[in-house]
Amino acid sequence: MTAMPFRLPSTAPRAPLTRFAPAPTGYLHLGHVASAVWVWGVARALGGRVLLRVEDHDRSRSRPEYEQALLDDLDWLGLEPDLGLPAAYRAGRCEYRQSERGAVYDHELGRLSTAGLLFACDCSRRRLRESGPDLPNVETPYDGRCRHRGLTIQPGRGVRVRMEGGTERFTDLRLGAQEQDPSEQCGHLLVRDRLGQWTYQFAVTVDDWRQGVDLVIRGADLLASTGRQLRLARLLGRETPPAFLHHPLILAPTGAKLSKANRDTGVRDLRAAGMSAAEVLGAAAHATGLLPASSTLGASDLGGLFLAS
Ligand SMILES: [Zn+2]
Repeated sequence: MTAMPFRLPSTAPRAPLTRFAPAPTGYLHLGHVASAVWVWGVARALGGRVLLRVEDHDRSRSRPEYEQALLDDLDWLGLEPDLGLPAAYRAGRCEYRQSERGAVYDHELGRLSTAGLLFACDCSRRRLRESGPDLPNVETPYDGRCRHRGLTIQPGRGVRVRMEGGTERFTDLRLGAQEQDPSEQCGHLLVRDRLGQWTYQFAVTVDDWRQGVDLVIRGADLLASTGRQLRLARLLGRETPPAFLHHPLILAPTGAKLSKANRDTGVRDLRAAGMSAAEVLGAAAHATGLLPASSTLGASDLGGLFLAS
C-alpha cells in the first residue's frame, strides 16, 4: 500500500489530541480530505485522538447546510472523530461549534483587557488595504494607527491585541525550525472585527488551548499564522504551546491551490461520479505525497502511512 511511511520525529507528542476543523462555508473537497488523511493518520500512528470542530466564526459565510454536508461526507469517508461535533450534535450539545462559544471568547477577551493588552480600532478594510503595498500574496501588517488614540471598545469598532516586536521560534514536525516575528507579519492582531465577529486567529487559539489540543495538524498555507497564534496563546496564559505539523497542500492540475470553487474535486461530485470512499482517501493521500500512486485506502489504514520514531 505505502512505499515509504512518513517518519514522525521523536519530538512528536505521544497520544496527542489533534483536531480537524473545517469551516462550513462550502462543500468538502479533496484538499480537505488530504488534510483529514494527515490528521487521522498521524493521530492513529501516535496513539492519539481527533477532535472535530466546526469553525463557523465567520457568520456571513457559514451555512448550516454546509455543516450538515461536511458531517455526512466525513461519515461516508469513515472518518470518525473521537471527540467533537457529530456526537455532541446528536446529544444537542454544541460546544464544538465556534458560533456557540461566544461566552468563552468574551471571557478570554476580558482577561486580555484586564492585562491592558487591547485597544479599539475603527479602521476600515479599505484604509488597511491602502496603508501598505498592494501586492498579491503579501500580507500588509497593521500600521498601528489606533494604538494611541484611546478609543473606547464598543460595538462598531474592532478590537486588537498588542503584538510587540520579538521572534517566535518553533519546530514544525515536518518543516523543522521556524522563526516568525508577528509584529512584522501582521502587527497588532485583530481579535474581533467591526461587525462583532471573532477572527479566525483568536477563535482557534482560544479553542486549541481550552479544548486541550496539543498537536495542530493543518496545511502549509497556515504556516505564517503559527507565530502569532503562539504569541497570542502565551498572552492568554497558555503555558505549554501545542506542537505543529504543516502538511503539503495538494495542487489542482492547473497548479492552483484547490478551493471550494473547484467543483470537480468536491467529495459529493466524486461520490456521484461513482468513486468509493477508499478511492477518494487513496487519491487524497497520493495528492499530498503520502502514496506513490493513487490506490484504495480505508479509513482504518491511515495510521500505516506514518511511522512514529
Ligand atoms: Zn485602526
